[in-house]
Amino acid sequence: MARILIVEDEERIASFVAKGLTAEGHRATVATDGRTGLDEALADGVDLVVLDIGLPDLDGFTLLAQLRAQGSRVPVIVLTARDSVTDTVSALEGGADDYMAKPFRYAELSARIKLRLRQAADREAEVSGSLTAGGVVLDQRTRRATVAGRQVDLSAREYALAETFLVNAGQVLSREQLLDQVWGLDFDPGSNVVDVYVGYLRRKFGAEAISTVRGMGYRFNR
Ligand code: CA
Repeated sequence: MARILIVEDEERIASFVAKGLTAEGHRATVATDGRTGLDEALADGVDLVVLDIGLPDLDGFTLLAQLRAQGSRVPVIVLTARDSVTDTVSALEGGADDYMAKPFRYAELSARIKLRLRQAADREAEVSGSLTAGGVVLDQRTRRATVAGRQVDLSAREYALAETFLVNAGQVLSREQLLDQVWGLDFDPGSNVVDVYVGYLRRKFGAEAISTVRGMGYRFNR
């Protein structure tokens, strides 16, 4: 779950975005003018901002400039009119992470939000010294996992397998290597326990997190 601020004065758009985000398990709040939007974007705990450009009080460009000037690195996705290419370019130069041209489909916005949250989680993990790849973060002190900011519970064995995968993210690991690392050598090499646990992790991290490499083993994707 992430906390997402929508700064948008068109009620129809704000409520349709908020509904979609809530349905996906996020906490969405709406600000309908630029000044309130800036205050709320600067508050603690906001994970991402969806920002309209044409706003009362303070336009989106000014809001963004002030947000960055005050040192905030919160990911911002700008909503812009489809024919305002110049707007878009200035938005990206002004510190936006991404933009959506109006009108847009919710699925498109949702995909971009997911990507930006994942990148922010990876960045944060690098800073705090956790293990991370592909939006999955393992805190080695608390042995907890988060996926795109959402906390997931792992059994001791699932944690050990996830740790082995993340340490070797991007590399193919054979079943034998995983069996050896996670279960020790006293396991029957013919056992399918690795495949079963990869299945558990895929359910928790998303199927795309771990690829099957035919005839070789598994790869955790960055
Ligand atoms: Ca507007």
